Amino acid sequence: MTSKKIPADEAWLEQSIIVLKGVGEKMLERFARLSLHTLNDLLFHLPIKYQDKTRVVSISGMRVGESALVTGELIQCKTQYVRRAMLNCVINDSSGVINLRFFHFNKQQVAGLTRALEQGKWLRCFGEVKRGRHAFEMIHPEYRIIEPHQLIAVDETLTPIYPATDGLSQLALRNAIGQVIEYLKQDHLSIGEALVHDFLPGPIRQELQLPALLQALIYLHAPPPDCPVFELVDGDNPYRKSLVFEELLAHQLSMKCAYQKQRQHFAQAFQMLSKQPKLRYSQLFVEQLPFKLTQAQSRVIADIVADVQQVHPMQRLVQGDVGSGKTVVAAVAALYAIENGFQAALMAPTELLAEQHRNNFQQWLEPMGLNVAWLSGKSKVKQRREALKSIADGSAHMIVGTHALFQTEVVFNHLGLAIIDEQHRFGVHQRLALLQKGQKLQPDQEYEAFYPHQLIMTATPIPRTLAMTAYADLDCSIIDELPPGRTPVETVVLSEQRREAVLQRVHQACLNGRQAYWVCTLIEESEVLQCQAAEHTHEFLSKQLPDLSIGLVHGRMKADEKKLVMQSFKAGDIVLLIATTVIEVGVDVPNASLMIIENAERLGLSQLHQLRGRVGRGSQSSACVLMYGKPLSRNGKARLMTLRETNDGFEVACKDLALRGPGEVLGTRQTGLAEMKIADIIRDQLLIPKVNELAQTLINDYPETVEPLIKRWIGKKMDYQNV
Ligand code: ADP
Ligand code: MG
Repeated sequence: MTSKKIPADEAWLEQSIIVLKGVGEKMLERFARLSLHTLNDLLFHLPIKYQDKTRVVSISGMRVGESALVTGELIQCKTQYVRRAMLNCVINDSSGVINLRFFHFNKQQVAGLTRALEQGKWLRCFGEVKRGRHAFEMIHPEYRIIEPHQLIAVDETLTPIYPATDGLSQLALRNAIGQVIEYLKQDHLSIGEALVHDFLPGPIRQELQLPALLQALIYLHAPPPDCPVFELVDGDNPYRKSLVFEELLAHQLSMKCAYQKQRQHFAQAFQMLSKQPKLRYSQLFVEQLPFKLTQAQSRVIADIVADVQQVHPMQRLVQGDVGSGKTVVAAVAALYAIENGFQAALMAPTELLAEQHRNNFQQWLEPMGLNVAWLSGKSKVKQRREALKSIADGSAHMIVGTHALFQTEVVFNHLGLAIIDEQHRFGVHQRLALLQKGQKLQPDQEYEAFYPHQLIMTATPIPRTLAMTAYADLDCSIIDELPPGRTPVETVVLSEQRREAVLQRVHQACLNGRQAYWVCTLIEESEVLQCQAAEHTHEFLSKQLPDLSIGLVHGRMKADEKKLVMQSFKAGDIVLLIATTVIEVGVDVPNASLMIIENAERLGLSQLHQLRGRVGRGSQSSACVLMYGKPLSRNGKARLMTLRETNDGFEVACKDLALRGPGEVLGTRQTGLAEMKIADIIRDQLLIPKVNELAQTLINDYPETVEPLIKRWIGKKMDYQNV
């Protein structure tokens, strides 16, 4: 593979990939679908796994589950028709035999294959080894006809498998990337060394024993045959580590830069303790609470107080397990804004949660003569118009709502604080849209705006090292203490077949004066179906347990109906509440001490933990029954068992992260992390403290390297992190 004539200068890697052999206009479009535009993009498009075609394995020496290259004579070749045509071949290499199976062929393909695969011919094939009924087998192996007994040349390097897309084959990717690598390798790598700049300062590379960037790239695109495949994907290979390290570093730098950028904006500094005692809302509020703040709550409030007295916007994330009392903290922060003459807004991801917040804030703020405005997608036209008016003219002090808050018609009068609950449910765009809204021009300097302070809350606490990376663009506080008097929830995992026994248990508990939730989970992501399931369960249970008063709440009920049901449940008039996952967050009924979750296997661990957090809020002992539908895999069961073993949100989040990955657990906000080219913040978390330290060193001592590193690894995606 040689490239067309291309001048070797600084800009070489910045050229369009159209300069490569075999890449035309049409291919260009396909490459673009993977965001591959320049030669540099190709160089950093790293393999996700490898195939070892560097040696021929004897059939008897193959292992199930591994991919292997074998050669042998075709001793049988038969077409079978089981609904569709299937071709069965057997090859023999004198150590043993293996079946090759090809399915789903039309007549033409079968004819072609049968002609090619004649008995007596010799084949070289590559595929995953499976255990067949009689012997090993490969399904749809790659194959090539060879001369009998020919010692077919094996590959010199492991074969990289790249992230690909429709219409762009591995071969095309390998061909294009191969040309770039070959070019860089010329003259004993001297060409490459001139073109691929190593931004990591030499002493740092040496200290960490990381191979040079160019060598690492060449190694990963074309690993030598003696390198075990697993080591390249999961293991401790130094070349891989070198690239992982640099990628993590680039992400860390980009988030730190985003933080710095926000930090350069201006915000209104709040005064603490107004001179007029009547206006000390925050103090009054804390004094009239029926409980004392926990130490953790007080500590986090102190962090917030320190932030909002500055002339730059606060960017603080509060992590706290379910029930740790984040809402009270948010209310104190909101009251600081209000007593300083500003509005505060709270945005929540679901209708029900937003309603809960509205109820709380109304109950807390209205007695002090403060107005709470409410905006949701379901607000009626008239209500909506009034809310918008009060937000715009400043008569609303506190604004609570859903996504509806950042729609264009919403104009704040003087927003001083934006609070976002359960941030992982929102995208970074949505968070920023709310901030932009709060932006207010300074009267004397038209070009510089004031930004609102931001407080972000999450009930998915994650371990410190991960938080360092995932939340590097925020300052973090943790509420690591539950209010006193909470009793741990005992969790049981049961098959659906035990439903009858569960029913009896619920019945007995309710007769003994306890209250219970019965949760119907999501069916195929459809809210409608989920509500139907809840309705059916409601009907069924009402028939089975006619002596209990049973209520129903789901997302498609009218707001008033929902409110009524929730009130009766809170008052104890309803003892058993059938619900959808709408009750996942925010619902607070201390007397409820039993929860049944149907089809628990359908939900993520963090979500189950959230749901379970609805019980165990009172002084009596509580229980949660996770019912699973059959059949459940071993892994699936192990997942549910995690919840039986721990009540600690941090531990649950760790397990969840390991099982589902950061993209799923941390949500849309973290897409940047989920889309990394080679690093994985779970697998590679041991590197994170060092990466963090180094990011700061680069910013302080080698600032010229920061931008090129970010550009290299994050490139265009940088835009959204940096709004
Ligand atoms: P989170 O949002 O963190 O899950 P909430 O703010 O909904 O938790 O609080 C859960 C419950 O605990 C609420 O009923 C709240 O009134 C109560 N609570 C909050 N702080 C305390 C405290 N310091 N002592 C006792 N109860 C508290
Ligand atoms: Mg909450």
